[in-house]
Amino acid sequence: VTGPPAGRPRAGQLDAADPLAAFRDRFVLDESQIYLDGNSLGPLPRATQARIAEVVGHEWGSGLAGSWSHWIGLPGQVGDLLGEHLLGAAPGQVAVCDSTTVNLYKLACAALEARPGRSVIVTDDDNFPTDRYVLQGIAAQHGCQLRMIATDLNQGVDEDALRRSLDGHTALVCLSHVAYRSGALADMAAITQIAHDAGALVLWDLCHSVGAVPVHLDASGADLAVGCTYKYLNAGPGAPAFLYVRAGLQQRLRQPVWGWFGQRDQFAMGAGYDPAPGIGAFLTGTPQVIGTVAVQQGVELLAEAGIGKLRAKSAALTSYLIDLADDWLAPSGITVASPRDDHRRGGHVTLAHPDAGPISQALIGQNVICDYRTPDRIRLGPAPAYTRFTDVWDALDTLRQILISRSYLNQPAAHSAATY
Ligand SMILES: *Cc1c(COP(=O)(O)O)cnc(C)c1O
Repeated sequence: VTGPPAGRPRAGQLDAADPLAAFRDRFVLDESQIYLDGNSLGPLPRATQARIAEVVGHEWGSGLAGSWSHWIGLPGQVGDLLGEHLLGAAPGQVAVCDSTTVNLYKLACAALEARPGRSVIVTDDDNFPTDRYVLQGIAAQHGCQLRMIATDLNQGVDEDALRRSLDGHTALVCLSHVAYRSGALADMAAITQIAHDAGALVLWDLCHSVGAVPVHLDASGADLAVGCTYKYLNAGPGAPAFLYVRAGLQQRLRQPVWGWFGQRDQFAMGAGYDPAPGIGAFLTGTPQVIGTVAVQQGVELLAEAGIGKLRAKSAALTSYLIDLADDWLAPSGITVASPRDDHRRGGHVTLAHPDAGPISQALIGQNVICDYRTPDRIRLGPAPAYTRFTDVWDALDTLRQILISRSYLNQPAAHSAATY
């Protein structure tokens, strides 16, 4: 879409032509607000509410320990479902377990150990905080070096800068596929190749891409990946994360948490740790059954919509948002801090303004739910499964009025909302 945006009727026409429009009713949504924070915590699918009630009331309530006979396979089954529909991963390579932070630790340690003689981990200085902290901790524990690539806050990781940072000492490259701040989308296949050319393994963080952009782990040659399920997958707060280990690597990697759920013949209760063959070796302890069931529902819902249609609508929503921002908000000092090329942008758009903190608060006060990001960013995530073009129009119109009236100057400067 180029040129000046049309008025609200145009947004209504886009909604009328939206093949995913009916999916909005599949979620519990408060119609008094516009929710543009599904990239932080996705809303509750109605089917999940019903399914969790059944699991709690029936499978746990009546079935008790007998229900483990079918619960125990869930991490691998839901992992395969996720792999098939959203990650481009053949069966047996994905498991749903633990948190993203813990999975990142497990896989990064395993990768480091699999590259003896190499002692450098490479990431970028704008990677998500937990990723940087976990890698700092691993580097400290293993006497390794953590090398940070200087990254543009708006454009994401630069492939030439990455290439220059790699050498024969590099064991692991760990990057986010979609940058949490700007939404910049990395070229997974190209970057994986750059890392492989240097003899390093690659670990992708997919938190902001899974369910928003098509991911092709197998076809990209990716080695390892992790991601969370409570953003675009709508599995709820603290729902278990996932991990991916390429089939060809599974036998060679040993993860550091030697729990009994990763044990071959678990219920033999053997004396020593003997890791299970396959992806099971990357499990640790008892799975979170209720959360895993929510992941299953979230994946099934997005699989029904189709990741191709979701991505097409997401690109249309975000480019529409950018057009409105250019036309209406630029005179008030707003700049677009996300890549403008649809192919380089994930599912959210970030706007920059020196007063981004109070402006975000003023927006939330007007029932447009967004989040503030340091240093001066307003993040807007129009998730395609339930966001309408009219929501984008109304949200930007609210923002336009806030900027013109300068009502945000009455907001306290500090922000307190905990959002991811
Ligand atoms: C949300 C997010 C996380 C969160 O990790 P948790 O262990 O679930 O707290 C990690 N990495 C990225 C890139 C994220 O966006």
